[in-house]
Amino acid sequence: MFADLHMHTTFSDGTFSPEEMAQAAQRHRLACVALTDHDTVAGCARMAAECIRLGIEFVNATELTGEIDGVEVHILGYFIDPANAHFLASLVKFQHARQQRIHEMAARLQAQGIPLQAEAVFAIAKCESPGRPHVARALVQAGLCSSMDEAFDRFLKKHRPAWVPKFKISADDAIGLIHHAGGVAVIAHPALNKSDDIIPALVEAGVDGIECFHTRHSTAASEHYLLMAEQYGLAITGGSDCHGMNKGKPLMGGIKLPIIHVRQLEERARAIREKTLVAA
Ligand code: AMP
Ligand code: ZN
Ligand code: FE
Ligand code: FE
Repeated sequence: MFADLHMHTTFSDGTFSPEEMAQAAQRHRLACVALTDHDTVAGCARMAAECIRLGIEFVNATELTGEIDGVEVHILGYFIDPANAHFLASLVKFQHARQQRIHEMAARLQAQGIPLQAEAVFAIAKCESPGRPHVARALVQAGLCSSMDEAFDRFLKKHRPAWVPKFKISADDAIGLIHHAGGVAVIAHPALNKSDDIIPALVEAGVDGIECFHTRHSTAASEHYLLMAEQYGLAITGGSDCHGMNKGKPLMGGIKLPIIHVRQLEERARAIREKTLVAA
């Protein structure tokens, strides 16, 4: 029995609907999936419903963008209560920052003589959590770029003319928010971060787990982070980070995490909720 605990749908920057994602999970014989759309849980109810229909376990989750010691770090939250009011209000703030960033990127493109309106991006994104892939798609659809790669290479990559830094909360706040919503906080794809130096500080901040398995981790990297999980007493997770067709091909099926890790993660979430209840 295997799980994939990291994927994105059309509710953020993936290209599959929640139903299509659940069906892809079934084709890959996954027993459990978590939907980790950026800064939103809006797709979770639909994916949960389709997973129930298909006999697949579903975990409510999200992926937040944090920062610690000047380093960007993505924090995954699992087993969160998708109806927690404070949590949802925070997500709305992050979504507004994402929408504002699209306006800023459109303004920068216009300053370059590229006539792309933010509204054209929103019309393509059709979600609360738009990102650069939507801007790239809008540029291609408007005939202003010939491919997504060209859009990133000419305009959207860091230090290119339309690049706008992403809004980030402190990693401490991201972890606190996830705990507040009854969830466990996990360091996403650590091998894609600039350094491991931030890991002790994240542990100090209360992070619960680390994503040892990821489609962009080498075997050596996975082994390295498994050792770190052991060293710091962190739960082990893994996921494909499938974005549908957005990164060339669907990555689902690339990671098969033994289900025992999901049970251990769930156990930690239970402990967090009990602690929160005692404190309240
Ligand atoms: P953002 O979170 O808005 O900064 O956008 C980051 C997303 O853009 C990530 O999912 C990246 O994988 C994606 N991305 C980066 N470069 C490219 C590219 N050349 N083509 C398509 N997607 C890309
Ligand atoms: Zn993404
Ligand atoms: Fe990420
Ligand atoms: Fe992701």
